[in-house]
Amino acid sequence: MQYQVHCECKRSITVSGADAGASVRCPCGKTVEVPPLHKLRASAGQITTSPELTLEAMLARGELPDTPNCESCSQFTPGIVWIELMSESSEAAKMPEEAALGCLVGIVSGITDLILKPEPKRPAGYNVWFRIPIRCCPSCEQKLKNTKCREILRRHQLSAALLDKWPHLIVRRVKK
Ligand SMILES: [Zn+2]
Ligand SMILES: [Zn+2]
Repeated sequence: MQYQVHCECKRSITVSGADAGASVRCPCGKTVEVPPLHKLRASAGQITTSPELTLEAMLARGELPDTPNCESCSQFTPGIVWIELMSESSEAAKMPEEAALGCLVGIVSGITDLILKPEPKRPAGYNVWFRIPIRCCPSCEQKLKNTKCREILRRHQLSAALLDKWPHLIVRRVKK
């Protein structure tokens, strides 16, 4: 994997993971520090370091759901069900800035779906971190439980990484 670092002279220099933490010389003669690997990865958008940032970007670009088939029965469906990832408000202090932003973006991209429905009931004292759309056909939607929602999120690399990073997050289907 190759990464870009930037010199004061505005040149970008290609480095590899092996250069992490070291320094490289720019053609202008200046020495450029190469950040540690986790920072290089984060700047390249690799989900290993920041699943919430990657998710936020995908939600903002309208890339989710990323499958045309029902997550439960695998049949083609235009149906979408929204899943909320929440924490108790007492946990909100732990919410990283980027997740707070992701939460906002998630809600914004959910507006077109939610505008026709009454605001879903939500237990008091909870903060929503993310609202994620998943593909689900109307008949599977009838029997979609919160435990099943978590199972579905676990099947996807990105949401699985998010649940690994923030294990206290509560997975809850948005009720109509
Ligand atoms: Zn330079
Ligand atoms: Zn289905």
